[in-house]
Amino acid sequence: MSTVFVRKSPTDYNYQALKPVIFEIMDSAVGGAIQKNSRVVIKPNLLAPATPDKAVVTHPLIVKAVVEYLLDKGAKPQISDSPASGSMMKVLKNSGIINALEGLNVEYKEFKTSIYFDIGKPFKKISIAEDALNADIFINLPKLKTHTQMLLTLGVKNLFGCIVGLKKPEWHLRAGVDREMFAGLLVKIQKAVSPTITILDGILAMEGQGPGKSGKPRKLGVVMGSKDTVAIDIVVCRMLGIKPDNLLTNKIAGEEGFIKADEIIINGHLPELRDFKFPEITPIVFGPKRAHGFMRRHLVQRPVCDNSACKMCGGCWNYCPARAIKPGGIKIRFDYEKCIRCYCCIEVCPHGALSAHETITGKITRKLLKIK
Ligand code: SF4
Ligand code: SF4
Repeated sequence: MSTVFVRKSPTDYNYQALKPVIFEIMDSAVGGAIQKNSRVVIKPNLLAPATPDKAVVTHPLIVKAVVEYLLDKGAKPQISDSPASGSMMKVLKNSGIINALEGLNVEYKEFKTSIYFDIGKPFKKISIAEDALNADIFINLPKLKTHTQMLLTLGVKNLFGCIVGLKKPEWHLRAGVDREMFAGLLVKIQKAVSPTITILDGILAMEGQGPGKSGKPRKLGVVMGSKDTVAIDIVVCRMLGIKPDNLLTNKIAGEEGFIKADEIIINGHLPELRDFKFPEITPIVFGPKRAHGFMRRHLVQRPVCDNSACKMCGGCWNYCPARAIKPGGIKIRFDYEKCIRCYCCIEVCPHGALSAHETITGKITRKLLKIK
């Protein structure tokens, strides 16, 4: 059995109210594990430079409360991540985390070096951030957000940030075409890193076309904490009114013997939301395998640019793992033949100019075949 602590917190992140909530969750879940001089790596969601009101990154005051808790225990906190867009220091500055932590004895260290770790079949040895694997204590601080490719990004998905720099798009290219395979990779990374605790920031969450600036902030006023990352993800699905297995990482985790929905104890009151807006997700591919290539190219939702919002900054074409985006004068051009539908470009666009749209042919075909 795993316990998930669910707590309400004011949606304005009032620190006087938030701090005791975080301290209580930390004490209840892992208090005894944190020793004097423990080297603690904290991994917030630092996807891209964005102010807290955009709900793209973990809120600075959640990070601050965790850091203060650790310093009270005499531990040595280090904040680390490998953002998809921009340097970690740029994300920390823009998000207000540097300001919030001013005067606190904390180290900032972007994940730069990796070590090979055997995560088992079919991936075998993959390179994961050395600091994440070697920490005495690893604290995972995800943000509750929608995700155009994976439905939601919660505790398990946040750990993809432990794959360093350009290895991330490389993995998208290898596993991202097949959502189940990508979910399997995420579950195995979670197992390798094995966070000591996960605290999820669901106070100002994101709905719609997340996880980047195309998503819409949504006040939920909820914080969750657990030693079990998968258990948190399952409980979030329940809160949002969907079956836990709708989130593929939960489904795969269940098949691989991790916690199941009926093995979770919820400590606290779990709100029930029935109007949360999920991104429209069509199956990446469906039907007979020989037709998958054609379907991906012509039927599956594709990234589309709002040219009035695009600043031609190059974020998308520099990150695209399939090299499917090119600058074409005053607007970007997609090569949908090459595009693998990983939607990373939507994630990294700093101006919210990209979103996923299903093709008309795709919509008609799904209706005819009665595929949801
Ligand atoms: S779509 Fe976004 S990331 Fe791409 S060039 Fe335009 S503003 Fe930059
Ligand atoms: S164009 Fe966007 S969705 Fe397509 S492969 Fe590139 S990053 Fe992924």
